[in-house]
Amino acid sequence: MLIDGHGRRVNYLRISVTERCNFRCQYCMPEKPFSWVPRENLLSFEELFSFVRVAIDEGVDKIRITGGEPLLREDLDRFVAMIHGHKPDIDLALTTNGYLLADTAERLKEAGLKRINVSIDSLKPHVAYRIAQKDVLGKVLEGVEKALEVGLKVKVNMVPLKGINDDEIVDVMEYAKARGMTIRYIEYMENVHAKEGLKGLTGREILDKVKARYTIKKVGREGSSPSFNYLTDDGYKFGIIDPHKHDFCESCNRIRLTAEGHLIPCLYFDEAMSIRDAVKAGDIEKASEILREVLRNKPEKNRWSDENAEESARAFYETGG
Ligand code: SAM
Repeated sequence: MLIDGHGRRVNYLRISVTERCNFRCQYCMPEKPFSWVPRENLLSFEELFSFVRVAIDEGVDKIRITGGEPLLREDLDRFVAMIHGHKPDIDLALTTNGYLLADTAERLKEAGLKRINVSIDSLKPHVAYRIAQKDVLGKVLEGVEKALEVGLKVKVNMVPLKGINDDEIVDVMEYAKARGMTIRYIEYMENVHAKEGLKGLTGREILDKVKARYTIKKVGREGSSPSFNYLTDDGYKFGIIDPHKHDFCESCNRIRLTAEGHLIPCLYFDEAMSIRDAVKAGDIEKASEILREVLRNKPEKNRWSDENAEESARAFYETGG
């Protein structure tokens, strides 16, 4: 079992398989073109998997593949199949912007993927364009339909932004609800890579928008999920991910691995250790030692709730959010 320096059980590994993305979401990435990590610096699926196997054998039972945009990594289903082959009952999920999903959902499902989260910040083509800085909505919605058709469980992620998509909070919920999908609203997490001046809605403000349509009841946090859940009067469960709240980190059960091999204990902080040399050398014992050291040093709390904190320098497109 993996226990961190604050006594929390860590059983959840998020793997960013590429930092590259085909969107330029304002809240995540710099607007101007910038240089990507050269492809040769990325760990291969075999190298990533050699670490994943260690993590699973030591107690990880939940894995999420993310990015950048993970579907930009060719033959992602091969990586999914490796993980599934090692532990078929693992909770294996993917977070994607959905743009390439229509062509990949079937293969991913066959390879052993169980669940996906799709980011849908707007149902208006021009607003989706404004956020992602590309004409994306049609392909994303097509991807969602395909994923549902092949039997993947789908959740929707939305980041509500003031003056941009905050009038669509209930509309996106209705879209998700009509298809049997859960929606989770994510509070915008300030970071230095996002567009200047961007303002997110707080969990309270998001809730007020939902309350204008529904009577709601608190359900609370369930297990180690970062989401605080609510139930509408017609029985629909939705969640708010509120990293600015003081109790958010208490049940944190996750660590993150980047495509270059950085093992990251907290989404807020810059700290990381590299497993790159260890996996390249096939030194599994060393990789396991590094995993334990990262856990020992996992911070107790992020600093999004701290008014005097500096903006996080961590890039969500590197860590996978
Ligand atoms: N490209 C994929 C996608 O769009 O879902 C996966 C990577 S993305 C970094 C993962 C999640 O992080 C998305 O749901 C996205 O909305 C969220 N995210 C990115 N930057 C964020 C920020 N500054 N605040 C809150 N959520 C953010």
